[in-house]
Amino acid sequence: MLLEVRDLHVEFRTRDGIAKAVNGVTYAVDEGETLAVLGESGSGKSVTAQAVMGILDMPPGRITGGEILFKGRDLLTLKKDERRAVRGAEMAMIFQDALSSLNPVLSVGDQLGEMFVVHRGMSRKDARAKAVELMDRVRIPAARERVKQYPHQFSGGMRQRIMIAMALALEPALIIADEPTTALDVTVQAQVMDLLAELQREYRMGLILITHDLGVVADVADRIAVMYAGRIVESAPVHDIYKAPAHPYTRGLLDSIPRLDQKGQELYAIKGLPPNLMRIPPGCPFHPRCPMAQDVCRTDVPPLYEVSGTRGSACHFWRECLHA
Ligand code: SF4
Ligand code: MG
Repeated sequence: MLLEVRDLHVEFRTRDGIAKAVNGVTYAVDEGETLAVLGESGSGKSVTAQAVMGILDMPPGRITGGEILFKGRDLLTLKKDERRAVRGAEMAMIFQDALSSLNPVLSVGDQLGEMFVVHRGMSRKDARAKAVELMDRVRIPAARERVKQYPHQFSGGMRQRIMIAMALALEPALIIADEPTTALDVTVQAQVMDLLAELQREYRMGLILITHDLGVVADVADRIAVMYAGRIVESAPVHDIYKAPAHPYTRGLLDSIPRLDQKGQELYAIKGLPPNLMRIPPGCPFHPRCPMAQDVCRTDVPPLYEVSGTRGSACHFWRECLHA
């Protein structure tokens, strides 16, 4: 297995107390596989990814338990410089907002080239040629001319392609994309997502796709892990989830995807708000919002029940949900 996160716990110290952002997350991604991690903001999906990338080692965030195995080695036990080496060469992250991730005063060619100068010891000239090649690879038209331009001279979609090119530069084994298309309009979203999926297949990378939008992952993900209040509430092959969710929260997310055949009808929205991570409700953390909640849900935390060999649900009533 390329990456295995096991029983990960992350806390944040705030002025008002300790926010329990990640509470026992377990997931895995193999090479050539795409895992979509789905949830509302504050569900812990980005924080888990930051822990994997090793960009969370500083206060106020603190990893309080668990393991992050990358090619069998627990990253949490590595020394700082070993960790940095893994992060630089073997994993890369793509963020939602390319404009703030790119350096505004360097041409995109210099930024892409920098990767090869620093990590591969290439000359400036060779690095520039590599930059053009990468821009071609992510289908930026007229790469040879545009390589000299600055980030603000590109559209949002093109900037996101540049971010993908940066992530791909050193051919990492794992890419984590955190809401990579959220800032883009719908048509561009689909193009960027298709490109990412295509490159992932070609390079046989592991890809973790973090999103709040179940609608964008249907065609690209192999598995989906749904997060709520810092836990995985459902984990399953993508087709199982679309056929029938085994958790009421997943059902709510599915029902809130706009569908072409329902044009004009009011969209379903899950009632209520995600919990305050300093006061996560007892029992099932979803119970205040769950249309299926029973008394037991208010007192007993549901474990991740085994629904099938490849599927788990943290709902006491997953059978009822599956057949609802
Ligand atoms: Fe709803 Fe209860 Fe299942 Fe939680 S355990 S999702 S409250 S039915
Ligand atoms: Mg986030």
